Amino acid sequence: MVRLESVRRKSGGRIHLTPRIPKTGPVTTLCGQVLGDGAYTGTESVADCANCIRRSRDQSRISSAFFEQEEGSELLRLSLEQARGRERPARQGSAAAAKPAERRPVLRVVPSTPEVPSELGELVTDGFKGAGPGVWRSPGGVLVRMGGPNRDRFAELVYEGQVVATRESGGLRIKAGDVEVTPSRDGMRVRIRR
Ligand SMILES: [Zn+2]
Repeated sequence: MVRLESVRRKSGGRIHLTPRIPKTGPVTTLCGQVLGDGAYTGTESVADCANCIRRSRDQSRISSAFFEQEEGSELLRLSLEQARGRERPARQGSAAAAKPAERRPVLRVVPSTPEVPSELGELVTDGFKGAGPGVWRSPGGVLVRMGGPNRDRFAELVYEGQVVATRESGGLRIKAGDVEVTPSRDGMRVRIRR
């Protein structure tokens, strides 16, 4: 079992859960937020983020969050190594070769956009590009604004094109260009249509 740690933004807001608070670098919460280096602090308080609490009961979620966190620090280490290598190119080879196989096997697969989690609260970020604080743009030009203290709740959609709104049992389904907003059990879900 992984022991979860409580973490919160220094600016306040909800107390989230994460498998491990790193000494340096960003931390990824169970609810999929990335809190930047220096912007968060560990706390002994009990978490009050509903998404984090729900996901803390799901072992596979915890595993993947733990993996993301580890991968993030590994990426940071690699980029630091590369930066040092550029400064001192003569030492790059020998330093790498002399390094013993320490700790545990290291995964070398580097995702193309490691800084963006696949889910940010109600938003499935896959395919979206960040267009400002809490604002995301789809390839088709749909703008989605996320609100709430953590900018992870769907707030607004803007699109100058065809929009279809359909009433469903759980609420309203909105198809706007290449984006679909659907009611879910505990809120909304925003994603690129496939
Ligand atoms: Zn959370």
